[in-house]
Amino acid sequence: MTVIHGKSACTGIAFGKIRYFLRNAFQVEKHAVSDPEAEVKRFEAARGQAVAELAMLYAKATKEVGEENSLLFQIHQMMLEDLDYCESVTGIIREEKANAEYAVNETAKRFAEMFSNMDDEYMRGRAADVQDVSRRVLGILTGTTAGGFQSDEPVIIAADDLAPSETVQLDKKKILAFVTAGGSESSHTAILARTMGIPAIIGVGEALNEGWDGREAAVDGSTGEVYLEPDEDTVSRLRLKEKKDQEYRELLEQYRGKETVTRSGQRVLLYANIGSPEDMEAVLANDAEGIGLFRSEFLYLESQDYPTEEEQFQAYKTVAEKMNGKRVVIRTLDIGADKQAAYFHLPKEENPAMGMRAIRLCLTRPEIFHTQLRALYRASAYGKIAILFPMITSVQEVRRIQKAVSEVKEELSRERIPFDPAVELGLMIETPAAAVISDRLAPLVDFFSVGTNDLTQYTLAVDRQNEQAAEFCDKHHEAILRLIEFAAKSAHEAGIWIGICGELGADPELTSTFLKMSIDELSVSPSAILPLRSRICQS
Ligand code: PEP
Ligand code: MG
Repeated sequence: MTVIHGKSACTGIAFGKIRYFLRNAFQVEKHAVSDPEAEVKRFEAARGQAVAELAMLYAKATKEVGEENSLLFQIHQMMLEDLDYCESVTGIIREEKANAEYAVNETAKRFAEMFSNMDDEYMRGRAADVQDVSRRVLGILTGTTAGGFQSDEPVIIAADDLAPSETVQLDKKKILAFVTAGGSESSHTAILARTMGIPAIIGVGEALNEGWDGREAAVDGSTGEVYLEPDEDTVSRLRLKEKKDQEYRELLEQYRGKETVTRSGQRVLLYANIGSPEDMEAVLANDAEGIGLFRSEFLYLESQDYPTEEEQFQAYKTVAEKMNGKRVVIRTLDIGADKQAAYFHLPKEENPAMGMRAIRLCLTRPEIFHTQLRALYRASAYGKIAILFPMITSVQEVRRIQKAVSEVKEELSRERIPFDPAVELGLMIETPAAAVISDRLAPLVDFFSVGTNDLTQYTLAVDRQNEQAAEFCDKHHEAILRLIEFAAKSAHEAGIWIGICGELGADPELTSTFLKMSIDELSVSPSAILPLRSRICQS
């Protein structure tokens, strides 16, 4: 048995086989083919399919985000129709009697090099495109479309690290636990694991490698320990711990269906954080009193292209209906920084957490914002939807949001599409700027929700993704608590409610502090609801 130590990202115990997460890195090898013409045909078929996919993506994206933002799909399509490109591939196949994959890969390399050496900056930028579009063709030729793992049975996923977009695309029913070499506690991958209630260990370091694939393991999410080929004693000890966890959960059942009220009668709303309609099962099973944060960007990360208004509407409507009149706070798109979807073609930034993310992206790409607001308002006819705006720093941003909202409401009225005109609008307090001017912001909206994950990173200047700086991240720092206290005071003076939807909301050491600040709502991962209710009811 080998024991490896990492950090806990989500508690729970799991036993099973490890599968190493494979990225879409094509290991292209050259091999001789006896029938080059058949190989040319294979290439032509894959090229044709890629062109058709790109034409579809272009048409869809033009409708959703405007022509300017969709041009890339057209450029990719043109590259695949370019005679020089096609002749290079077929030439390599015929002259070297080589397989199509090798010919595409070689052509991509040669063209990328040629573009990189050009004087014109625009042309240099095409190097990445030719590689990108060639990867699409390679994906079709090899039948691999996304990174992932192959398994018929549920497994423990091991990876160097997982991007949020990779995590959301995994088949959750097949995952017993996550173990990653890198990662930090407040990264979105760790948050996703907690939302899904899947045991997770991060920061295992270099000990984790591809050689783990296929090995038997046991994972203790609460201590951050991974046991490779666990011995009998360890298995029985962990089974016992699992049984005790189960007994504790049964004890918590007495809080199901109860209000969350302290002994002195202070009422707190206990809501759940979700990332997709699929999480509703856990929300209902854990008796959430509402949804305090639906991270809508995960819908975008799950798809290969901008989700349409109709797709979004269906997702929001499903959640609203399942909550049966209870409040559902849906946050508008918070993409950028660590949450990247290729089809957004976000420019590379030195400091993406401080760059074009969240509301900044929505305000500068209004088509995307408009589509989402329409979907949200349409869904408001089917339940109690509230809309939350992320990464706010100024009053001006709120004014721009209000304008976009009014336009959508007017449009829907004109089209006679039903919606709730009194949808609550709220702001995330997750930048120090928003907290400090919360007294100016509060009169403009219906509620605040404190995003302690970002508020912590921006206040303490500690990148939430950076494990090395983790020791400088004092989550209970007085500066953060003072900012939350001021935001709570501003909210209550303006007569609006305030919640906490960052990970700190579930921190048992801060529950009494938040109660003293008269925080009205705490939104946590579904599995944290009953333990927190029991704590509050006993305080
Ligand atoms: C936060 O920043 O605390 C938050 C809830 O949003 P996210 O973690 O998605 O950035
Ligand atoms: Mg945030």
